[in-house]
Amino acid sequence: MVKAFSYGLGTYEVAEALEKEGVDYLGVANILEGVEIRKEGVQTPIMVMNPEAASFNLMVEYQLSPVIFSTKNLALFAEAVKDAGLNIPFPVHIKIDTGMHRLGVNPEKLDEMADWLLALEQFIRVESVFSHLAATDEPAHDAFTRQQIQLFDKLSSRFRKKFNYHIDRHILNTNGIIRFSEYAFDMVRLGIGLYGVCNDETTQQKLKTVSTLKTKISHLIEVPKNETVGYNRMGIAHENKMIATIPMGYADGFNRLLSNGKWEVIVNGKKAPVIGNISMDMATIDVTDIDCDLGDEVIVFGEKNTISDMASRIHTIPYELFTIISPRVKRVFYT
Ligand SMILES: *Cc1c(COP(=O)(O)O)cnc(C)c1O
Repeated sequence: MVKAFSYGLGTYEVAEALEKEGVDYLGVANILEGVEIRKEGVQTPIMVMNPEAASFNLMVEYQLSPVIFSTKNLALFAEAVKDAGLNIPFPVHIKIDTGMHRLGVNPEKLDEMADWLLALEQFIRVESVFSHLAATDEPAHDAFTRQQIQLFDKLSSRFRKKFNYHIDRHILNTNGIIRFSEYAFDMVRLGIGLYGVCNDETTQQKLKTVSTLKTKISHLIEVPKNETVGYNRMGIAHENKMIATIPMGYADGFNRLLSNGKWEVIVNGKKAPVIGNISMDMATIDVTDIDCDLGDEVIVFGEKNTISDMASRIHTIPYELFTIISPRVKRVFYT
């Protein structure tokens, strides 16, 4: 899964690296994400999770396969294929709603969908049938997850039998791959795990940290006892302090909820708490006990102060913190 610009970490670079590794499919959320990856020369099949009918012609032009969950969109997509004058059927993916209730064909409408697909065989070929699990990372919902999987198994087998060619099946995301590996079917849809994060402690220890958010100290200020730091005077120097200013604020994706000691960045191997409110383009950190200088590296999150910890401090998930990193933060890739 390389949607949302590879979970906020890049644009086409991750897709390109995965193509070199030989992945069979890439997954994006919308059409423009797919177009951008194609424009960089990536040729691996791309599935678009939530395509907009208004741009179906663009999908055909860029060889992007839609996920289909309504007969209305199926008919519109077949039109786009027909208009393009292609003489081979275009691959699509059929999503079944097994309980997530977000996107997907209602199980009761699956037979009708199959009939439509068969009628449009000249233009459309089903490459895969899949579903999405709602709670693979929460053992409390395991019974529900198993119920979703059983339902998918039953519905997708029946669906596949109607076609005289092979159709792949898949249902697992990262935490599903870890916790329900016996249900891998023909493919899995690895997302956050690819970026070094999962919700299972044992597996987490085996994953590498693949991204680090870093910046440099731009200013050092001695703040005398009882003075305050930053907006609304929220950072109080209870003793004489040395404060470092870093050029990274909430506009960069350094969430403001991490202000006032809610997070510690790392400077020269030591933890430095955020002091005061994080502002739009800057933040201030307490380096009183750290030997440091202008230009020294500051790790906002990385191997020792992980994005998962950061997320739990402010009651959100690593997915969100990855994807809010602003485009103005320069991405540097190592291979
Ligand atoms: C994002 C997404 C995934 C990947 O989920 P992770 O939890 O990041 O592994 C898999 N399937 C679908 C349909 C998705 O939208």
